[in-house]
Amino acid sequence: MSLEPIRCPACHSTRQSEPLERYRQWSLYECLECGVQHFWPAKNPGADWYQENEMYAARDLMVVDWLGWYHRAALDNMPVRSGSVIDVGCGNGAFVAAAAERGYEAWGIDFSSKAIEAGRRHFRLQNLYAMRIEDFTTQFGDRRFDVVTAFEVLEHMDDASAFVLELSKVLKPGGHLIVSVPNRERRPWLLNEGDLPPHHFTRWNVPAIHGFLARHEFTRSKVIVCPTRITLKAFILYRIHLGLVIRLTRRAQADHPGAIQRTAMLARARTLTILKDRLADLAAVVLAPVLAPFVRGPMLVAIAQRAEVTNTAAQDD
Ligand SMILES: [Zn+2]
Repeated sequence: MSLEPIRCPACHSTRQSEPLERYRQWSLYECLECGVQHFWPAKNPGADWYQENEMYAARDLMVVDWLGWYHRAALDNMPVRSGSVIDVGCGNGAFVAAAAERGYEAWGIDFSSKAIEAGRRHFRLQNLYAMRIEDFTTQFGDRRFDVVTAFEVLEHMDDASAFVLELSKVLKPGGHLIVSVPNRERRPWLLNEGDLPPHHFTRWNVPAIHGFLARHEFTRSKVIVCPTRITLKAFILYRIHLGLVIRLTRRAQADHPGAIQRTAMLARARTLTILKDRLADLAAVVLAPVLAPFVRGPMLVAIAQRAEVTNTAAQDD
């Protein structure tokens, strides 16, 4: 057993609950200081693991260029009407493309070079880069943005606090941060492998995300919970077997089929995905009014403003 104390990845406190549950070598704790739940020991498996994992490869390489609920929620609630935005962990860049279309100067970075290549080809975007946020300043100097977004990234990090500090560094003073995370109070509770380590290390609810942002010098935070109709749609989609789509993508990625076959297979995977999406949407519209009292959204989008540098802080520098 390690002698290292169990430390919260969101506030670094060592005041932790007893283990709430266990999964393989990990135990889930709740931080008594900030309320974030986290699996310990935490170690993000790194870029290579994500690139090779077929779940992410299927999503990133198909270039599904419609947007997730959290992308739309962000676009509908953009805190500025123009300016620059960078999406950190942008995958194939679907959100970057949508923001660029709305007139923002939009950038995206992701540590999967395959996803970035696919996005560059498909969206013809210039400002997509395969890199980690930690390396941004080395490459682009003191370039800063009006808005920084990170969708479904925070929960993957082994040190959520260090990650949000990195996001702050590329944000202008007074700029806005938009992050989305899964809601641990969601109903129905749909636990799959992707919610567990080494995928997700932290679990969030509305108070935990507000508190986390306040601790990291963000003010005026607002949290949007995914509405019932979208929740039901996600539930239905999770229930429909994704096997065929994954199989087609895997075969298309293998070296043996020719370029034409490969394109045809990816096109079939895409058509299936779109069809599935439409059917789920229709079912959700019908069911939402009846099931609303029993449903709690599975995703949270938080928007907050980085505090302006105060005189005291400026003197400390
Ligand atoms: Zn904590």
